Amino acid sequence: MIRLRRVTKVYKGNIYALEDVTLDIEKGEFAFLVGPSGSGKSTFVKLLIKEEEPTSGQIYIADTNINELRKWKIPYLRRKIGTVFQDYKLIPHKTVFQNVAFALEVTGKSRHVIDQQVPEVLKLVGLGHKLDAFPDELSGGEQQRVSIARAFINRPPILLADEPTGNVDPSLALGIVKLLEKINSAGTTVIMATHDKEIVNTFRKRVIALENGRVIRDQDRGVYGYD
Ligand code: ADP
Repeated sequence: MIRLRRVTKVYKGNIYALEDVTLDIEKGEFAFLVGPSGSGKSTFVKLLIKEEEPTSGQIYIADTNINELRKWKIPYLRRKIGTVFQDYKLIPHKTVFQNVAFALEVTGKSRHVIDQQVPEVLKLVGLGHKLDAFPDELSGGEQQRVSIARAFINRPPILLADEPTGNVDPSLALGIVKLLEKINSAGTTVIMATHDKEIVNTFRKRVIALENGRVIRDQDRGVYGYD
């Protein structure tokens, strides 16, 4: 599903954010991408959605070499990859319903489909009763659930979450990851970048550990492994 071959990303100033990364993530996997701040996790996520280009190396998503993807095809790539960020990126003046509906509107879905699917996905994330709330009326955990609903509404084969529990109360963080696990068990490949040791050690999924842009460990049912 996702293949990286000798991927290196050097930012201005000769900063090696990723160095010679080769790995495969199969369809239906759940992988934690761990490592201290600055180890390259966000860069990894940005390369997969073509927000950044690798300096060298190849990235394949579902057998497409995304380096060679034409610009006009990038939105289609991004529809295959739902994204969730630490800061939720919800639109403040839209309701919960409207925030999620927006992701369907841009793909040209009819009002009928939107009215049916949006409440359904919001129920899945446990927010069926908050359709008309605005983001600032929700807790951090609830806002993150809305952003997960928005990322998942098009049923993408891949879901990328970059520090999704970073701004969420620790008591609610577990619920966020359980939700990603539920989405994963329905067949979506999930990659979650995190430096939350407790979560990684609780869920025991594949752990890909980065340090200074290099993969230093790749382990099934792994643990966080840093103090
Ligand atoms: P993480 O998500 O693990 O904190 P990042 O991928 O954000 O790591 O950063 C990896 C390295 O690349 C860090 O040294 C960071 O300072 C650097 N970096 C990230 N983005 C840029 C950029 N746009 N320009 C220059 N350096 C960057």
